[in-house]
Amino acid sequence: MAEPALSEMEFDAAGLAVRLRAVTKAYDNGVTALGPLDLDVAKGEFVSLLGPSGCGKSTALRLIAGLATPSFGTVNVSHRAARADGRHPIGFVFQEPTLMPWASVRENVRLPLKLAHAAAVDADRRIDEALAQVGLNEFAEAYPRELSGGMKMRVSLARALVTDPDILLLDEPFAALDEITRFRLNNDLLDLWRKLGKTIIFVTHSVFESVYLSQRVLVMTARPGRLAGEFRIAAAEPRDEAFRTSAEYAGYCREVSGALAPSYAGQRSA
Ligand code: ADP
Repeated sequence: MAEPALSEMEFDAAGLAVRLRAVTKAYDNGVTALGPLDLDVAKGEFVSLLGPSGCGKSTALRLIAGLATPSFGTVNVSHRAARADGRHPIGFVFQEPTLMPWASVRENVRLPLKLAHAAAVDADRRIDEALAQVGLNEFAEAYPRELSGGMKMRVSLARALVTDPDILLLDEPFAALDEITRFRLNNDLLDLWRKLGKTIIFVTHSVFESVYLSQRVLVMTARPGRLAGEFRIAAAEPRDEAFRTSAEYAGYCREVSGALAPSYAGQRSA
């Protein structure tokens, strides 16, 4: 029997940030990208969606962000409506930093506040705060062409943080970066998560990255993406390079890889 939908109050009282129930998504071209998928994410949790390319991970994020509507099922997100003060409950970071090349770092980060018609009074303060959170204060007046790939991604992260979202959705944000930069950004993201207490849903196809970052890893099947397995990563906090080289980390990676392997079966020619 279908579970009754929760009212917004019940949803909040249950400590939930996101709930998907029996969600499927078929695109107009007939591709069924996702589901059926059930998913609960608690407030303040760090969850990764891990699966092969094309299994519907981005689709799941877009449904949660309200950028797409499900074909079936329900998507609940705590307080998804935008607020008058330019705060927005959801921040979205894409794989490409997608910065405006003609605008400074400061003006790139200002964009969501402008789009939300937020009062300009405290916009500068908020931009400074977001830039400080990603360690880019000194580059506020720089242009994207002057920045490394990692720094561009930091700008993209600051642009997502400037509206002070409760939920951050990250779609393979570090996939194009070299390994050392990626490790550094992994650590900085974990620091931010600990400091800011946001709910993070992180999409990746890297077992290693998902285990390093998350409290919970949700392994998805090949398209249409469903849950293939769920792993609690109960490693002690804060995580650091010692964890990355530990037997505990290797053990989690092995378990998660085992659950992911069938999702790649039949994709050998891909
Ligand atoms: P992932 O993020 O796991 O790589 P996506 O959610 O981007 O997967 O895509 C899942 C499937 O849906 C893919 O086969 C992709 O080609 C298809 N797809 C994604 N977006 C659209 C769209 N707007 N229209 C049609 N098909 C799409």
